[in-house]
Amino acid sequence: MNDYDIIIIGTGAGGGTLVHRLADSGKKILILERGSFLPREKENWDTVEVFQKDRYHTKESWYDHKGKAFQPGTSYYVGGNTKFYGGVLLRLRERDFEQVEHIGGISPEWGLKYADFEPYYQEAENLYQVHGSQGIDPTEPQRSSEYTFPAISHEPRIQEIHNELQDKGLKPFNLPLAIRLNEVDQLMSSCIRCDTCDGFPCLVHAKSDADISCIRPNLTTENITLLTEAKVTKLHTNEAGNEVTGVETELNGETKIFSAKIVVVACGAVNSAVLLLKSANDQHPQGLANSSDLVGRNFMKHQNGAIVGISSKPNPSKFQKTFGINDFYWGEEGFEHPMGHIQLLGKVNQDMMAMDAPKFAPGKFLDEMASHSVDWWLTAEDLPDHNNRVRVEGDKIYLDYTDNNTQAFDRLMNRWVSILKSIDCGNTIIPLSLYFRKRLPLQGVAHQVGTCRFGEDPKTSVLDLNCRTHDVNNLYVVDGSFFPSSAAVNPSLTIIANALRVGDHIRERLS
Ligand SMILES: Cc1cc2nc3c(=O)[nH]c(=O)nc-3n(C[C@H](O)[C@H](O)[C@H](O)COP(=O)(O)OP(=O)(O)OC[C@H]3O[C@@H](n4cnc5c(N)ncnc54)[C@H](O)[C@@H]3O)c2cc1C
Repeated sequence: MNDYDIIIIGTGAGGGTLVHRLADSGKKILILERGSFLPREKENWDTVEVFQKDRYHTKESWYDHKGKAFQPGTSYYVGGNTKFYGGVLLRLRERDFEQVEHIGGISPEWGLKYADFEPYYQEAENLYQVHGSQGIDPTEPQRSSEYTFPAISHEPRIQEIHNELQDKGLKPFNLPLAIRLNEVDQLMSSCIRCDTCDGFPCLVHAKSDADISCIRPNLTTENITLLTEAKVTKLHTNEAGNEVTGVETELNGETKIFSAKIVVVACGAVNSAVLLLKSANDQHPQGLANSSDLVGRNFMKHQNGAIVGISSKPNPSKFQKTFGINDFYWGEEGFEHPMGHIQLLGKVNQDMMAMDAPKFAPGKFLDEMASHSVDWWLTAEDLPDHNNRVRVEGDKIYLDYTDNNTQAFDRLMNRWVSILKSIDCGNTIIPLSLYFRKRLPLQGVAHQVGTCRFGEDPKTSVLDLNCRTHDVNNLYVVDGSFFPSSAAVNPSLTIIANALRVGDHIRERLS
């Protein structure tokens, strides 16, 4: 009864998409997800609950390299972290797959190229109903066809800023968004263009996340079994150490062992590494599939930060996150190294402002600021570093991480503030235009990748190019872990496209 063709551990961008790809294969599939379905409740859209009280984040503590505890900004539900994502689904650029010299070091070449991913990117965009527009982003990679779903429109204040940036010679482009918004026929639209999207779960299920797009549509499929609140704690191997023979799982307070011809770990880059490291045995003393000593290493999470610009003009926008800027992605005049990507952030409100404001700041003041703010998210590439790693000691999870390539991020941040200052127009209420900057601390692990990099050489990679571990024949890792470099755009579309690609390989292998 506990024997399957395929076991998939985790239901996020990687695992959830793989379920979709394999669902109609006729193979007997078991999905093990440590979380439950995310409850639909009013708190989904309550900023105090979601941001201030961390209602949906794990209560686990992880530890930094000095042993200081922190609560990671990550969540365990069906759909994984896509339940909370902003739905910006960008492709990596062609050059992101090549070796690139950054001001802070080298971003390595990938074993596969953009052309290998292109058809899967296309399919991934259709599966997640990505709304976008081709031909505006100056760094956009070649596409085999236009987006199936039209770009989402800007609200008036955002359109105004967009036009001012265009007048400055910049090329703001419509963010490709996995949001189920139909602007032609409102009755057909799930999305209501609210201001509780980026970072919030969607109460009306209008976000194309891995749960809504991939897991739920397949739940009635006969060959698929989903067990929620099923945390996998260890993988066992045969005596030779080259096959996973048992998937140890905590379920309803009991320990169960499941087995399958193929086992796929898709727990997210940190937890996939944790599971492999914790599965050390006599044949794999430094962790399962870890003969390279690379499991957990090269952990990346991007240099991420936010700018909250208090403009002199009010900004009544609700669904603010509609355009991005890639003009500085590869650098600028006088700086011939990559800088990164800029996108609008979900609209910041008073309760979000309160989290970073001095305790004495009156609510009315914060509300006034929020009603004038235009909010941005900046991403620069962090580079793979052998010493930036996920480590386990007993049950404790450590993230040893030192920032790198910060000069690129700082330059991007300064450039953007100077541009914002140059386009702010006329004072009405607030005498000064203010720009609050924040760099995300270690607990901001939303963009975690790289802990089981793929490649051809078992000495320099954990996974082969099909994302099968070099060391264990029937073990795959299909999530953000496989990235050899992090590029500077959001990672999910590449995780999704890769899951479709690996899914094709697994189907072929089992046929
Ligand atoms: C607030 C926020 C906004 C974001 N916005 C964007 C965006 O706009 N665009 C973008 O591209 N990306 C965005 N991201 C990042 C995106 O969500 C992640 O890149 C993506 O979800 C990673 O996919 P994954 O499959 O690697 O892992 P996850 O989605 O984290 O999935 C891992 C799954 O494994 C389960 N799991 C973990 N351990 C175990 C275990 N031991 N046993 C069983 N199950 C386990 C987890 O519960 C989870 O379901 C955002 C993230 C956050 C938090």
